[in-house]
Amino acid sequence: MEIPLRYHVWSIGCQMNTADARRMSDELELYGGEPSEQLADADVVVLYSCVVRQAAQTKVHNELERIRHLKRRRPGMRVALAGCMVEDDTTALAHQYPFIDRFLSPKLDLPIRDQVFDFLDLDERYRLDPEDAERIHGISQPVTVSQGCNRRCTYCIIPFRRGPERSRHPREIRREVESLVRRGTKEVVLLGQIVDRYGRDTGTTLGELCAEISQIDGLERIRFLTSYPVDFDRPLMEAVASLPKVCEDVNLPVQAGDDTVLRRMARGYKVDFYERLIEEMRSIIPNLGLSTDIIVGFCGETEQQFENTLALLERVRFDVVHVAIYSPRPGTASASLWPDDVPREEKKRRLHEVERVQARIATEINSQLIGTRQEVLVEGTRQAKRYGRTRNNKLLFFESDDPLAGRLVPVEVTQATSWSLQGQLCVPAAA
Ligand code: SAH
Repeated sequence: MEIPLRYHVWSIGCQMNTADARRMSDELELYGGEPSEQLADADVVVLYSCVVRQAAQTKVHNELERIRHLKRRRPGMRVALAGCMVEDDTTALAHQYPFIDRFLSPKLDLPIRDQVFDFLDLDERYRLDPEDAERIHGISQPVTVSQGCNRRCTYCIIPFRRGPERSRHPREIRREVESLVRRGTKEVVLLGQIVDRYGRDTGTTLGELCAEISQIDGLERIRFLTSYPVDFDRPLMEAVASLPKVCEDVNLPVQAGDDTVLRRMARGYKVDFYERLIEEMRSIIPNLGLSTDIIVGFCGETEQQFENTLALLERVRFDVVHVAIYSPRPGTASASLWPDDVPREEKKRRLHEVERVQARIATEINSQLIGTRQEVLVEGTRQAKRYGRTRNNKLLFFESDDPLAGRLVPVEVTQATSWSLQGQLCVPAAA
């Protein structure tokens, strides 16, 4: 007889952490674990940490301080720290947080099962039949397809923490997606640091992987993140255009709209290259939804250089822009080479300026959708309305008595704001 193991898996940061946290929860469940909403009640705690910016890192430290207190009262609690806070050398972390029982490095590709096994000495535990452990999962689920990054963007800490680029085998990915679909998943988001480089090491391209996964019955939609400008090739554009399950939705970080800044970030392309790429993509993929990431206040960024970024936003007209304030990360080239010389107030002003310009552009783009009919994958209910996403990743809210969760439904757009749409469910014409 086993006492149920109560686990609490916490994550912050990118979708890769969300995906790993979900796999960890699944695995713990197979060993008889039960999720514990409250950290304080858990026997096992796994934190998927993030260090991409200082704000995220601070939240992880706060969580660890809570655990420090809890563990004083409950010394039996087992704690693992995973994600990008875990460096090769964990001495400093172990010193600061001596109560952490195990570090799970994002560089190790040990299957999660083995990590759990090492961590909990689970060899004695009875492994439940997977069938019994099935439960309804999210309608859209992230799935990690490749790990690590070989690039060295000067501001970025991720390559140091996640190690070199490597891809998972297509067969293994297919199995994971099939098992999600059996539990109700309708959409998968394939994840990699540079997802369009998927398979350079195993010989299957991302386009081919999408074609393979498209064969899974019951799976309705496929998306992927994050793309890198120089790696997004024509065959991938053609795959997106021709595979019906692959959504017209691309996340392509540009980071800056100025060649000098791009060179100092070591991004490996110029603004002109990026714009031509978008032109080509838009010519091949109709109704493309396009999002990007921007960093403002990078070392030495002048007012003029910043304005070049604003001008790029006006020319490209992205659907969504994720904007972040430059945060120097220890050990990166930019942090060691150049002073973080744009004052905090000025960084904030630039951030708000990007948000202001982008809100107007997005409202204009979204308003053009009023009156059109969109296919929505219904993901849930929020404030008495059903909501889901269009193929090109716009959030759409509408009313319906039927929860419709996980269904693909036609919705006519009636209103638009910068971040979402409102609409009316179209009653399918009687046969
Ligand atoms: N592989 C992706 C980046 C993943 S990190 C790429 O090719 O760009 C996610 C986002 O965090 C980045 O796009 C960048 O905009 C932001 N970011 C990364 N490091 C940062 C830093 N030091 N300061 C501020 N934002 C940063």
